[in-house]
Amino acid sequence: MGENMLVLDAGTTSTRAMLFDPSGRMLAVAQADLTQHYPRPGWVEHDAAEIWQRTLSCMREVARGKAGTIAAVGITNQRETVVAWDRTSGAPLARAIVWQDRRTAAFCAELKAAGAEGAVQESTGLLLDPYFSATKMRWLLREDRQVAAAAQAGTLALGTVESWLVWNLTGGAHLSDASNASRTLLLPLDGARFDPALCDLFGVPAAALPEVIDTHGALGMIAAKWLGRPVPLAALVGDQQSATIGQACLAPGETKATYGTGAFVLTNMGQTIPRSANRLLGTVLYQESGMRTYALEGSAFVAGSLIQYLRDQLGLIGNAAETEALARSITDSGEVVIVPALAGLGAPHWRPEARGVISGLSFASGRAEIARAALEAMAHQTHDLAQAFARDGAPWTALRIDGGMSANDWMAQDLADVLELEVERPALVETTALGAAMLAAVGAGLYSGLAEAAAAMRGGATRFIPQMEDDVRAARLNRYARALGAA
Ligand code: ADP
Repeated sequence: MGENMLVLDAGTTSTRAMLFDPSGRMLAVAQADLTQHYPRPGWVEHDAAEIWQRTLSCMREVARGKAGTIAAVGITNQRETVVAWDRTSGAPLARAIVWQDRRTAAFCAELKAAGAEGAVQESTGLLLDPYFSATKMRWLLREDRQVAAAAQAGTLALGTVESWLVWNLTGGAHLSDASNASRTLLLPLDGARFDPALCDLFGVPAAALPEVIDTHGALGMIAAKWLGRPVPLAALVGDQQSATIGQACLAPGETKATYGTGAFVLTNMGQTIPRSANRLLGTVLYQESGMRTYALEGSAFVAGSLIQYLRDQLGLIGNAAETEALARSITDSGEVVIVPALAGLGAPHWRPEARGVISGLSFASGRAEIARAALEAMAHQTHDLAQAFARDGAPWTALRIDGGMSANDWMAQDLADVLELEVERPALVETTALGAAMLAAVGAGLYSGLAEAAAAMRGGATRFIPQMEDDVRAARLNRYARALGAA
C-alpha cells in the first residue's frame, strides 16, 4: 500500500484530480472544464454524467503508473448542487441543478411568508434561500416526469455531488458526509440523519436520500475496476469546509476567507452549535466518529468579479493584477468608495434588491482611484462580516486568506489594516484540495489527527501585520457606511 492521497475536487466550473504526498506536496494534477447550461435566466445546470466522466478521466490520468502509491481517496466538491439518478440503471434522470440556480425563489418566498424560516434556521442553521438543496429536490420531483416516475417506482436516488461520485466509485453506496448534508436544509445541526419533518416540509421522500456519514474515516472502498485494486475512500467534504481545514482553522475562532469570484468566510466554532442572530449560516465543518465540529459561515457575492467587471465591462484595466500597481500609485482613493452590490448584498445584509454604488467622484478620480476603491471594498465587506461574526460570539483571532484574489499583496495588507488583524496567506493557495488531502490522510490513519496532518502537510505563509492609523481607518469605514446606505 502506498502513502499518497488522491483528491478529487469536483468544482463548479471545472473538475480536478490531484495526488498529494504525506508532506502536502502536490505530485500530479489533471483538470477538465465542465459545461455550464443556462436554459433560462436564473437557471444553472450541469450534466451529471459529464461530472462523473470528466472526474474519472482526471483521476485515471493522475493515477496512471502511480496507482500503487495511493493510500486513500478524498473528495471535495461544489456544495448544494442536486443530482437525481436511478438506482437500477445508475443513470442520471435530469440535469443537475447547480447551487447558483434561482428557480425556486418563489417557493422560498412562500415558505418565508408562511413563517417557516425561524424553525428551519433553528434546526439546520440555514435560511430559506434557493441556494440550498431541498427546494431544488422538490422542484425536480414536481416538474421532471422521469424523476417523479422513479420516486413512484422506488428507484429514485437524490444526492449532492459527492453522493453522485461515491455511488459511481463504490458501485452503488448511497452516502453523503455531514458537511455536505448540512447544506441541504434537511439535516438538523444536532441530528445524525435527515429529519422526516423537514423532508415533509420540502416534499422530499426520505427513501431517496443518502445515509449521512462522517467526513473522514473508513467511509467505503473505491471499486477495483477504477484504480486496478480496491482503494479506501477516506474523506468527503464540501469545498468551503475543506478550504477551512486546508487553512488549519482547527481551533474555535480561527477563520479563513476565500477571495475568488465571491468571498466565503468560515470560522471554526468547535463543538458549539452555531446560532446566528445576524443572518450568518451555521454549518458542519467536519464529523469524526459521529462527533461534529461546526463553523459559522458568511459570504459576499461579489469579490474578484468586481475586478472582472472593471476589466471586461468598464475596460479600466487590462488584467486583474494591474489593480495592485494602480492602488500603490496613489496615497488614497481620493474619497472614492465602491459598494460592490452588483448582484445584491449577501451576508450579513441579505438585500437582493441592492445595487452597486460608486460614490465620492470628483474630476480628480481616475483609473487608479477606482481600482484602489475596488480593492478597498474587499476589506470593507469583510469588516461587515467580521462585525456580524463578533456579534454572534465568534470574534476572529486572525484571518487566513486564499483564492485567486488573495495573490494581491496590496489587498492583503489593506485587509490586515482595516480588520486590525494579522492576515496570513499560505504559500500553497490550493487550500480546498489540501483540506481534503489532510482529511483523507487522517481518515486512512496516516496521521493521528488534523493537527498532526496540518503540521506535516502545510507549508509556510506570508504574514501581513496591521499598520494603519486609527483615524484613517475610521474615516474609511465612515465613508463606506454612508455609501452602503445608498446601495
Ligand atoms: P473562482 O475559484 O471563484 O473561479 P479564483 O479563486 O480563481 O476564482 O479567483 C479569480 C478571481 O480573482 C477573478 O475574479 C479575478 O478577477 C480575481 N483576481 C485574480 N488575480 C487578482 C489580483 N492579482 N488582484 C485582484 N484580483 C485578482
